[in-house]
Amino acid sequence: MRCLLCDEALSSSFSFTDLFLLKPSKTNLCFTCSKSFVSISEKHCPSCYKSDIAELCSDCHAWQEQGEQVNHVALYRYNDAMKAYFSQYKFKGDYLLRKVFSQDIKQALKPYKDYQLLPVPLSPDGLNQRRFNQVTGFLDDASLPYLDLLGKYESIKQSSKTRQERLASQQTFYLKKDTVLPDKILLIDDIYTTGATLVLVKQVLYQAGVKDIKTFSLAR
Ligand SMILES: [Zn+2]
Ligand SMILES: [Zn+2]
Repeated sequence: MRCLLCDEALSSSFSFTDLFLLKPSKTNLCFTCSKSFVSISEKHCPSCYKSDIAELCSDCHAWQEQGEQVNHVALYRYNDAMKAYFSQYKFKGDYLLRKVFSQDIKQALKPYKDYQLLPVPLSPDGLNQRRFNQVTGFLDDASLPYLDLLGKYESIKQSSKTRQERLASQQTFYLKKDTVLPDKILLIDDIYTTGATLVLVKQVLYQAGVKDIKTFSLAR
């Protein structure tokens, strides 16, 4: 076996260490790559899991002022290792890399037994470019069932807009025809940055009658 990220041969001592620490096993990674990902510590914004702040963060305050309630959980910091990972997984399209985090995600979603999982969809262009949705990649590999009831229209590339423009931008998500919605939904995304994407999806779902929506991302 070789490390999925750096191609280093995996030693058996790693899996022993892993077992000893009783951490969710990243059996596909070498020790060096594995430890380059940093879990979000105990000290985080209670509302969105932003690191190193124990009270409501400024992002969440801003949302609150706009009447948006943030109820988010994330697993890892969006550090350089995570950036490099997503660039290889999403933009170079290395589908095998879904396996690096699928088991962590499966473990983290266990408390949400009452919630139906709903991955944030890609627009048709996004899907064409990447050939797969990075979030459903995780869920498929973890054998977790999820809803497929949302679509996304094309929009101007989010990164080319300012935060203000992003917030003011039009709704790009829509419900597919003839969908039956559950009362409780856990929305799943890969990275939480401003939270704007999740707010837009939540607007569509609340308007359609969903009662309880929580959100989750691999990185924050
Ligand atoms: Zn490695
Ligand atoms: Zn926050």
